[in-house]
Amino acid sequence: MFEALTAQPADKILSLMAAYRDDPRDDKIDLGVGVYKNALGETPVMRAVKAAEQMLWETETTKSYTGLAGDVGYHNAMRELVLGTAAAPDQVAAAATPGGTGAIRQALELIKMASPSATVWLSAPTWPNHPSIIRYLGMPMAEYRYFDATTRGVDFGGMLTDLDAAKPGDVVLLHGCCHNPTGANLTASQWQEVAYLLKAKQLIPFVDIAYQGFGDGLDADAFGPRHLAKTQPEMLIAASCSKNFGIYRERAGVLMAVSQDPSKTALTQGTLAHLNRQNYSFPPDHGARLVTLVLGDDALRADWLEELDGIRTGMLALRQNLADALRKRTNSDRFDFLAQHRGMFSRLGATEAQVAQMRENHGVYMVSDSRMNIAGLNAQSVPVLADAIVAAGV
Ligand code: PMP
Repeated sequence: MFEALTAQPADKILSLMAAYRDDPRDDKIDLGVGVYKNALGETPVMRAVKAAEQMLWETETTKSYTGLAGDVGYHNAMRELVLGTAAAPDQVAAAATPGGTGAIRQALELIKMASPSATVWLSAPTWPNHPSIIRYLGMPMAEYRYFDATTRGVDFGGMLTDLDAAKPGDVVLLHGCCHNPTGANLTASQWQEVAYLLKAKQLIPFVDIAYQGFGDGLDADAFGPRHLAKTQPEMLIAASCSKNFGIYRERAGVLMAVSQDPSKTALTQGTLAHLNRQNYSFPPDHGARLVTLVLGDDALRADWLEELDGIRTGMLALRQNLADALRKRTNSDRFDFLAQHRGMFSRLGATEAQVAQMRENHGVYMVSDSRMNIAGLNAQSVPVLADAIVAAGV
């Protein structure tokens, strides 16, 4: 049987990581893989998470199964974190999932089950796992314009035009904040316009939010999903705790299905539990429990917020420093978009040849589509990157 398997395409980012590892240069710069790194290049366990782990170690008396959809305390904590007061508890069905990816997968399974002919609309470009999972599930998909290659901002006109062609019942996948891979995001008033269009065309929003707290702050980053929860009859949200709690390998995510009509919640909740059962039975609990502890304890929550805000403002400072360095070198403001982008990533807008040139001549490693992980920079490497960008003629 195994001989019938065919090789799957290599993961671009993993092969980039290997090339970086094998590069002997001392001043090489890793802007590839999508994890947060501090100025020393480390991805530390957050203080509050470490404290919660100790608390858990001391107080946890059983590792027996939770509910099929995970722990209700976790659902509530995540509903409040993502949605605030935008939806009442009885309007939200929720399930713990293995990371944000698990939530995305389960959301797509739900869509396939409830509405098999719905097309899932993706931003061009988007996180490559989105189309990859949709293709794997054999679901119809389409793209809407999103990134404007000239301004490196959002092509909002193109986005509205393309979504206008969607049919009632289609699903529109939106990045809640900190768009991956581009860093270009909708403004609050653009979210409102999108909400208006979705409702008028009877389209269903599906928000993937993996970087809440990495852009303009926890509440500002959740403006989009909160506005949609208030205005749309139904929506799906896949949230990840990997980045904002730094618990990547623990695999903590949540899928929420929001309905204006609370009488639908019990059926949806049962379906989410059923879908968990079919795919992996009980979801992982450790990371979810850490998140619940941190969010539910005033001191831990305050400490987490402080550390998260340090991460966020550190990345904003790196963005500004890089934009300033490029302003000086080019005598122009054409790289100011780097300071406008939010989150861990920015798409520089370099060609593949320019990306290769920066790697070969300056030891700068970014994804071939010119996505840079801003958290891979520090005070020493910002000028090196700015030199590399100018030398490559970007
Ligand atoms: N969505 C987006 C856009 C992401 O960038 C990521 C992380 N790379 C995820 C979802 C999910 O991450 P995880 O499964 O590690 O929680």
